[in-house]
Amino acid sequence: MSLRLHNTLTRTVEPFVPATPPRVGLYCCGPTVYDFGHVGNFRTFVFADLVRRALAFNGLVVTHVMNVTDVEDKILRRLRETGQALRPFTATYIDAFLSDLASLRCLRPHHLPRATDHIADMVRLISRLMERGIAYKAPDGSVYFNIEQYRRSERWPGCACRYGQLVHIDPEQQRASGRVSADEYDKDHVADFALWKARVPEDGDVFWESPWGQGRPGWHIECSAMSMALLGDSLDIHLGGEDLAFPHHEDEIAQSEGAGGLRGDLHGKHLPFVRHWLHGAHLLVEGRKMSKSLGNYFTVRDLLAKGFDGREVRFLLLSAHYRETFNFTLAGLEGARTALARLDECLGKLRERAASHGGPAPAPVHGLVEAFQEALNDDLNVSRAWAVVFDWVRDQNRALASGAMDPAAAAAELAAFGAVDAVLAVAPDPAAGASVPDEVMARAHERVAAKKARDFARADALRAEIKALGWTVEDTPAGPKLKRA
Ligand code: AMP
Ligand code: ZN
Repeated sequence: MSLRLHNTLTRTVEPFVPATPPRVGLYCCGPTVYDFGHVGNFRTFVFADLVRRALAFNGLVVTHVMNVTDVEDKILRRLRETGQALRPFTATYIDAFLSDLASLRCLRPHHLPRATDHIADMVRLISRLMERGIAYKAPDGSVYFNIEQYRRSERWPGCACRYGQLVHIDPEQQRASGRVSADEYDKDHVADFALWKARVPEDGDVFWESPWGQGRPGWHIECSAMSMALLGDSLDIHLGGEDLAFPHHEDEIAQSEGAGGLRGDLHGKHLPFVRHWLHGAHLLVEGRKMSKSLGNYFTVRDLLAKGFDGREVRFLLLSAHYRETFNFTLAGLEGARTALARLDECLGKLRERAASHGGPAPAPVHGLVEAFQEALNDDLNVSRAWAVVFDWVRDQNRALASGAMDPAAAAAELAAFGAVDAVLAVAPDPAAGASVPDEVMARAHERVAAKKARDFARADALRAEIKALGWTVEDTPAGPKLKRA
């Protein structure tokens, strides 16, 4: 079965076909860097990592972009509270984010654009909206998106200029009521939203020059501009947590389609801004969304400090289907530990048995890989995928106990697990025992995925990067091993 994914635009599970296969552009809304991320946030980022790895598993060559929102209302509030300057303040949380991402074995996105490095693209996009009459400067000096005008914009062929594509909004309610300058607001408040926020005294020295005076961009325009700057005007996949569908993603569509793309050729080619929208469900705590404002959260580092490791957290976050909410508990993490111990024990025994296999690296046996792919390609059906993996563990344990498995067969089974683990990334560390730095481990995992996607140039580049960090990677029948150079 080829890969099928749910599309929020159509609310159905559809075959996923990129515009120019095998290349896929994947954009994921990244963190707002005003604090450490909590595991709820990381549920969405682990989901993005799963999508990326599933695409690679299907032979596609992914360019993964994740923005960093480094100017936004919450950040400015924190600058006022702490008296810090923008760049050093956000740098702390960007570093923490990347380190947490590596702890959870997420492959580092190929591009991590910061909003403050793309102000010129945002200004260009807003200028196009002004030229087209769907943005206006208000008496407060800020520039707003004109929803009414946008809805009447049928003069651009191919423009699906309809507000309310992702969340069903009653056309009557679409009549925008007033203006909103905040970056976040509720679904029942359809209002003209800020594209450019005029400088106010509370902003301190955080401002940029623009044709409309000094100020800063709104949150929504940041993602429109950065995604199109790096992936072109029409994206294969745009992904985020379900809370972002409105207003953030709806507003992104309006801005991008309204402007006809960053280069202005979106409508000429009759392409939508995004062809496939993916939204991940929330992680809950006792039935409520894990969030900073409710105070019911754990950061990744809180859990590491409690003695859990990153792959246990990853396993737990990958245990439920991405469109289902689920409750986070510490007992759930203990369960993840127990399940992984079963897997580790089986892999350890297979490695022992395979150790005397002297021949060339065997081809993976097919049963596991095919059953896993079937489950994965069915809209990332992880429950079925884990059942496949743990049935395989049971079968290997039986075969090992009966003495029926020779070293070549053990090596072939390990190779099959290696292929599956290029997606799951939960196997014990390739350098078990040695303490491998996060940046080396992340590259080792990415190299496995690159090889699986037959992107050998990338795999070689990653080997060189691992070497530059003082480690060597050796491919053995039992999988890659890391050693200090
Ligand atoms: P933020 O840093 O607040 O912009 O959020 C980063 C990402 O985390 C967004 O994609 C949110 O949708 C996502 N997110 C926030 N809270 C949760 C949660 N409890 N469960 C899953 N994803 C979440
Ligand atoms: Zn975004």
